[in-house]
Amino acid sequence: ASREMKRDDTVIPLAQGAVGPATFTLIAGPCSVESEAMMLKTAEHLVSRGVKFLRAGAFKPRSSPYSFQGLGLEGLRILAKCRAETGIGIVTELMDTEYAGAVEEVADIIQIGTRNMQNFSLLKRVGQCRKPVLLKRGMSATLDEWLMAAEYILAGGNYQVILCERGVRTFSDHSRNTLDLSVIPPAKALCHLPVFVDPSHGTGKRAYVPAMSLASLAAGADGLLLEVHPDPDRAMSDGAQSLDFAALDALLARLKALAPAF
Ligand code: PEP
Ligand code: MN
Repeated sequence: ASREMKRDDTVIPLAQGAVGPATFTLIAGPCSVESEAMMLKTAEHLVSRGVKFLRAGAFKPRSSPYSFQGLGLEGLRILAKCRAETGIGIVTELMDTEYAGAVEEVADIIQIGTRNMQNFSLLKRVGQCRKPVLLKRGMSATLDEWLMAAEYILAGGNYQVILCERGVRTFSDHSRNTLDLSVIPPAKALCHLPVFVDPSHGTGKRAYVPAMSLASLAAGADGLLLEVHPDPDRAMSDGAQSLDFAALDALLARLKALAPAF
């Protein structure tokens, strides 16, 4: 992952568009796949606004075993339908090696969540996959630990890795996590991989997502992962940090004013 090995930025070519420093890529969608209707509605809105990637979890890593755990394989089927009907790219989390084949079949980008950043058997498994991997930073991981986790995937022969900062644990309790935008310049300096930011999990509150999105772009991020839901107050997970369609549209207009390439 080091620039000592490869000086030039990694660009990941995908059918929906390349991911890398020449473009600013948006990945948006609800925390969880909840139903076919809400997913198709979201996919259609995103496509109409030029957003090329839809995110949603079919397998959810919830803090409580009594919370909604995701629709599992039925969720993957719905994501495949969204892709078939709209052409949008699919980003979804793989939690367990058991489902690697099923997730790899549906996903254009496989997400590894913060809780699994050092799940080394899972990292080795996605190193064998031939789909790009979005690797979230562990919530207490240093930059070096994060880059070494990426190294596990690269060492398996999968060179298509995107890093994603999603906030770390600190003493601060005004937000869900502390979004560490200060990690972007050193990550970009040390490493040739694209770096994304997830301001939704980083803040936990939808009111703060626009400012942190704009700040991510200004700090040099290559893209954003945003939680967007057609009716955030009724979401089955992470509604408080999800934008509705109107808030997404307003944010897109502000991002476009700053980033002509986007
Ligand atoms: C998510 O993207 O919905 C998610 C569970 O993220 P994280 O792993 O960053 O908590
Ligand atoms: Mn979420």
